[in-house]
Order: sequence, then structure tokens, then C-alpha cells
Amino acid sequence: MHHLLAEEKLCLDKLNRPLKALRISITDKCNRKCSYCLPENYALNRPFIKEDDYLSIPEITSIARSFVKLGVDKIRITGGEPLLRPGVVEIVEDLSATAGVRDLSLTTNGLLLKRFARSLKSAGLGRVTVGIDISVDYSNILTGLDEAKRVGFKNTKINVVIQRGLKQESLLKLTKYCRDNELILRFIEFMDAGNCNNWAPEEVISAESIIHWISYHFPLVASDSNYYGEVASRYKYKDGKGEIGIIASVTKPFCRDCTRARISADGKFYNCLFASSGFDLKKALHSGLEGEALEETLSSLWAGRIDRYSEERQLFRNSGIKLKKVEMFQIGG
Ligand code: SAM
Ligand code: SF4
Repeated sequence: MHHLLAEEKLCLDKLNRPLKALRISITDKCNRKCSYCLPENYALNRPFIKEDDYLSIPEITSIARSFVKLGVDKIRITGGEPLLRPGVVEIVEDLSATAGVRDLSLTTNGLLLKRFARSLKSAGLGRVTVGIDISVDYSNILTGLDEAKRVGFKNTKINVVIQRGLKQESLLKLTKYCRDNELILRFIEFMDAGNCNNWAPEEVISAESIIHWISYHFPLVASDSNYYGEVASRYKYKDGKGEIGIIASVTKPFCRDCTRARISADGKFYNCLFASSGFDLKKALHSGLEGEALEETLSSLWAGRIDRYSEERQLFRNSGIKLKKVEMFQIGG
């Protein structure tokens, strides 16, 4: 793990974790219905955020600027499916023009990537991550990935949620594709985010077992983390043809290194991916909160942070308490 430099500006929470990264969800709508996130039958009956209730683009920018003043230098735009949000390119433009944002990325399911890749690149987006559901046909996403490469995106990551019953053939095919196309494949353990995805411990396949399996086909060697707070453990292919990552949030929780604040599309500030409720920033902005007062509010919300759900998961399960948690499509992973 890398050590933090003494001169770095730090806003620390109750467990001494610095605020370094911000994830902004810009819509809860999605053109996919992945069973691990937004199951079809659940999506049918639920109201999504109304356009009027979204944070506006200037509100997103102003919140992001305040976070940057508190030490954030990494911002990820997410959803739902962020490419469905009207004005997504403008949002990228504004955030990329914000001084102090060192790393601006966007997570998408890739369905609209072919159409948007060029304008996202021109707007200043640094990197894209594409979430692929390998239980369905994903060939149409590959054209989006080709386009992203063509317009100059580098270090593109592919996220795959691994769940019991996954098709090994499909996984192997995608692994080969990523090796051949300079894409960084990352396996994410199926998480009990939200309450709608029918999560059960038996559905989780450990990331470690995936590493063994991949290594059997393409030998791997463990590699160092890139930066403090990186959630993926990295492995390089022994033949030098790229790398993969695993995000073992269930079997090896990494709460103690979690440096991320999260904002939902309707402006709720969440301290944790598994939180039950968030602070209503939109309401606060509407009642005049801005500038230094906004920074102070964000800073005190972070300072009070004690969340470490993944490390406490078993305690909650043993206690039988059924927590109400924000859904993955609302907060963006
Ligand atoms: N729609 C975009 C996408 O799919 O990449 C962005 C939003 S999605 C909620 C962000 C990430 O969360 C995706 O990479 C997805 O694979 C991951 N994800 C969703 N549900 C998950 C779950 N239950 N466990 C682990 N990862 C999950
Ligand atoms: Fe799938 Fe992403 Fe949509 Fe969730 S938000 S249903 S992970 S595509």
C-alpha cells in the first residue's frame, strides 16, 4: 500500500480515511436490466427519479468543485446508465474543466458507447469503464469498445460481476478478447448492494477462485496496487499481455481503504455503497447553501463517517436485522 504524503490536503473520517474520490450518479434509469443490479420485475413497478428532481448540471459542477477543495482528485460519472442522461457530454465538459480533477472517468454498460465515444473524448473524459453482463449476448458492446479505442481512450476497464452459474465459455472468450484488445478485465464479486437483487452468500463466487481458473488458462502473477485506496487487486499475465483485476468486496472487504464519497442523481450524499440514507444536498443547495458553507457541510458529513458495511456484513446477517440499503442502480457501484 502507498503511504499518504504529509503535505497532502486531507479531510479524514472517523476511521482516518481521507476523502479522495467522488462518484456521481447522473441518472437511475437504465437500458439494461442486469439481474444483479436492477432485475426486470423490480424495474417494472418502480418509479425512477423525475427529470425535475435531478441535480442540474450547474449543481453537479458546484458540488464537484467543493469536493475538489476538500481533497478529491478523482471523479467517476456513473448511473444507472449515464449515457441516457440528457447533457452527459456537457457534464463531462464541465467536470474536466474543473481545476484539480486529475482523473475523470465514466462507467457505462457500453450500449451507447459507439454513439458517444468521440464526443466524450473531445469533452475531456479521461477513461471509460464498461460493465458487461456476460449472461447475455454482449457482441453489440464490442463495437462500442472498438470505437472507444479508435477515438483514443486508453486503459479502458471491463467490469464483470461474477455470480454462481456464470458461463465459463463466455468468460474465457471475454478474457481472450480483453487480452487481445488492451482492455483491463476486472472481476467483481456479486455484492449484496440494495435489497432487490436476491443476493445470497451461496451466489457468490470468490474472486480468488476466478484467479485460479484464469491462471490455469493464462498464467498470472500478482502485481502491486497503483495508488492508495485502489479497490482492485491486480495480476499481470506472465506472457506480458496485459493485466486483470479482482474486486473481492465480499470475501476480502476493503472498507479500511475506502476513500469514496457518493452522490445519487437526485443529490443525496452517501458515505457508503451500502448506506440506508443520504444527506439531501439538492434541498440544501435550494435553500442557499454554497461556497465555503457547502464545503463545511460536506467536510462534516465526511468527518462523521463510520461506515464499514462490508467488514460488518456478517454481524448484520447474524443479527437477523434486514437493513434497507440504497440500490446499486441509484448509486452507481
Ligand atoms: N450502467 C453502468 C454499468 O453497468 O457499468 C454503470 C452503473 S453500474 C451500477 C456500475 C457497476 O456496478 C457495474 O460495473 C456493475 O457491473 C456493478 N454492479 C452492479 N450490481 C452489482 C452487484 N450486485 N455486485 C457487484 N457489482 C455490481
Ligand atoms: Fe446493469 Fe449497469 Fe444498468 Fe445496473 S445500471 S442494470 S449494472 S447496466
